[in-house]
Amino acid sequence: MPLRKLIAGNWKMHGLSSDLEQVAAIARAAADYPGVDVALCVPAILIERAARAVPGFAIGGQDVHQAEKGAHTGCTSALMLLDAGASLTIVGHSERRDAQRESDSDVKGKAEAALSVGLNVILCVGESLEVRQAGAAVGSVLDQLEASLPSTLAATAALAVAYEPIWAIGTGKIPTSDEIAEMHAAIRQKLRDRFAAAGEKIRILYGGSVKASNATEIFGIADVDGGLVGGASLTAADFMPIVAAAG
Ligand code: PEP
Repeated sequence: MPLRKLIAGNWKMHGLSSDLEQVAAIARAAADYPGVDVALCVPAILIERAARAVPGFAIGGQDVHQAEKGAHTGCTSALMLLDAGASLTIVGHSERRDAQRESDSDVKGKAEAALSVGLNVILCVGESLEVRQAGAAVGSVLDQLEASLPSTLAATAALAVAYEPIWAIGTGKIPTSDEIAEMHAAIRQKLRDRFAAAGEKIRILYGGSVKASNATEIFGIADVDGGLVGGASLTAADFMPIVAAAG
């Protein structure tokens, strides 16, 4: 049976107080799609206001520190995200793996820290263009996933894996449907190997240039259980047709 789809927006470093209107508009419109889980991962500084503005709607962070607390200037702990009203967080986004030099073991620590306080986690993996062109995409993503997954998982609904080819993020390029299907099937098998039957229930999202025009086709691919959406999640006008495509 297909898993319930999750469509999560990643606002990255976009969003001021005035954009809370869009959060409210998206939350209102999402109520028309009770069969789809919808979430917005907003900048940390907006989480509390967004969560207060749309009670019951899933607001998330975009990163979390792996330590419980301590001397980590500028960082946000899992408990801080929860305290601010977040119910989920992204970990291991390729922009952070690259610019902040986050390793797989950092990402694993972040996932475990978030899960330990009851946050849901969207764990990102994905290959570079060079790796894809060298024919090594599947092996590379599975290695990354193996080293980034939390050691244990109490609830399958708490974890989603987002396959985001780096070369597809913000570029308007997407893999072919066959390439997405091949990668998602391989990720599904890895999740089964790691978590046995529970691995069947972990959602696998596709991310990278998802738009209204390609969402229906992407969400129709086997083992695509939703999407992680960047640029097209910033306004209700762009985001809601993508949610509708999952409904
Ligand atoms: C992302 O950064 O997670 C993403 C998928 O971005 P975009 O949809 O803009 O490609």
